[in-house]
Amino acid sequence: MSLEKNIIIHWFRQDLRLCDNPSLFEAAKQGVVLPIYILDDDNPGLYQMGGASRWWLYRSLQELNRSLNGNLVIHNGDPKKILLNLVSENKIKSVFWNRCYEPWRIRRDKEIKKLLEAQNIKTKSFNGSLLWEPWDALKKDGAPYKVFTPYYRKGCLNEVSPRKPLGKPRNLNLYVELVNGLPIDNLKLLPTINWHEKLEPYWRIGETNAQKTFADFKDNCLNNYKKNRNYPALSSVSRLSPHLHFGEISPNQIWYDIKIKKETDSINHFLSEIGWREFSHNLLYHFPDLPYNNLQDKFDRFPWLENEDYLRCWQTGQTGYPLVDAGMRELWETGYMHNRLRMVVASFLVKNLLLHWHHGEKWFWDCLLDADLANNSASWQWVAGCGADAAPYFRIFNPCIQGQKFDPDGSYTKRFVPELKSMPNKYLFNPWEAPDAILQKADVLLGKDYPMPIVNLKLSRLRALEAFMSMK
Ligand SMILES: Cc1cc2nc3c(=O)[nH]c(=O)nc-3n(C[C@H](O)[C@H](O)[C@H](O)COP(=O)(O)OP(=O)(O)OC[C@H]3O[C@@H](n4cnc5c(N)ncnc54)[C@H](O)[C@@H]3O)c2cc1C
Repeated sequence: MSLEKNIIIHWFRQDLRLCDNPSLFEAAKQGVVLPIYILDDDNPGLYQMGGASRWWLYRSLQELNRSLNGNLVIHNGDPKKILLNLVSENKIKSVFWNRCYEPWRIRRDKEIKKLLEAQNIKTKSFNGSLLWEPWDALKKDGAPYKVFTPYYRKGCLNEVSPRKPLGKPRNLNLYVELVNGLPIDNLKLLPTINWHEKLEPYWRIGETNAQKTFADFKDNCLNNYKKNRNYPALSSVSRLSPHLHFGEISPNQIWYDIKIKKETDSINHFLSEIGWREFSHNLLYHFPDLPYNNLQDKFDRFPWLENEDYLRCWQTGQTGYPLVDAGMRELWETGYMHNRLRMVVASFLVKNLLLHWHHGEKWFWDCLLDADLANNSASWQWVAGCGADAAPYFRIFNPCIQGQKFDPDGSYTKRFVPELKSMPNKYLFNPWEAPDAILQKADVLLGKDYPMPIVNLKLSRLRALEAFMSMK
């Protein structure tokens, strides 16, 4: 008599790692694991994965498949149908996964749970990507926090400590009998135009590389993180955001690894940034309209402009404001933009150009390797002033002053705007004010080699403040 195997599907989603993967760990403990990934373009609606993220996913799946000795089973389509087929064809009794928090995924997963349980298939979901579940970090009266500091201090730090990270599953027995899947290439994740090749030198992808990136950051940058994190020319931030988004590393691994060190201002600051990630997910969970609607209703009356030319100049880094253009070109060149620059370019779009934050959020969604529905929409609402704990609308970044302050020797700006590489620092961030002799010496003909500013800073600032007053 042959004993029937207990085959459990572990459905990989935004947890593309083997270590500290609660669902995979539990599945491995209980039986033989069938590891699957499903590319779902059917359910996300407007939020299908963007171009840059698809490239990252392609490379990350390759790495994950390698670590599973080529046994990752890949599918493309609606997970409801695919999972129902898989369980019935392979006599599977359980399906496990780690939770995701995008509203469309929550809706879909609830439906899948119902469908599978109706077939007597056991389902179980785990927390694999947040330190604190959004439904646990609530105010005393049960309402969600809308302001970061009390959320983080009272809702998180004063509450139960996050789950300790797990190791790799012991005895991971994989189900290697014939289950038809697709080769990764068939997912067609790579764009037809080869723009993604330029991203390759900037990134090391996959679980092992996420750990290496984290280790490098701890060795070289963490000590001075608080002081240096605002200077884009210094390699002073972790660049862990795409690894965290795709779950190649868990926040728990980061949290506990750093927590054991002697507390410093830099350590606390870095952990609070991980806290901002938690806060954004908390907002998205409790306010699922976050990507679509202003959290503050009064912004529904804001007199946004429609101007295709402005938008195109902003997207392509041709606004005539060198710091803004450097940020936008960094994004295009590397799939990433430093946080200081994200705030500067976002403020420029919504305040100086008066274009709706949705335009910026969409462009970031397509171009960022770390495009993340919670972080992106919460951050755009924060900069636009319409969010929960938002920057006041009247705080309008001046890109010239920001440049002088945060890129004092101009090296970041000159790297991404090489047409200005010979401009003296005094005029680097405001080249239109430079005397002709200086422009000639720097070999810059404004309007030809580099654009004239598309808006006047002072006037556009006043226009923004008037627009803000008009909606009161
Ligand atoms: C307009 C705008 C859009 C943004 N869109 C995204 C996005 O789509 N995806 C994304 O991951 N981040 C987004 N951010 C937040 C932040 O800019 C990035 O997380 C950060 O720059 C990533 O670089 P890092 O990993 O080197 O950060 P580090 O400074 O090393 O921080 C470590 C981690 O903390 C988290 N974190 C840091 N700052 C924030 C923040 N302000 N909000 C939420 N989490 C944070 C990230 O997971 C980050 O990887 C956005 C910010 C702005 C202003």
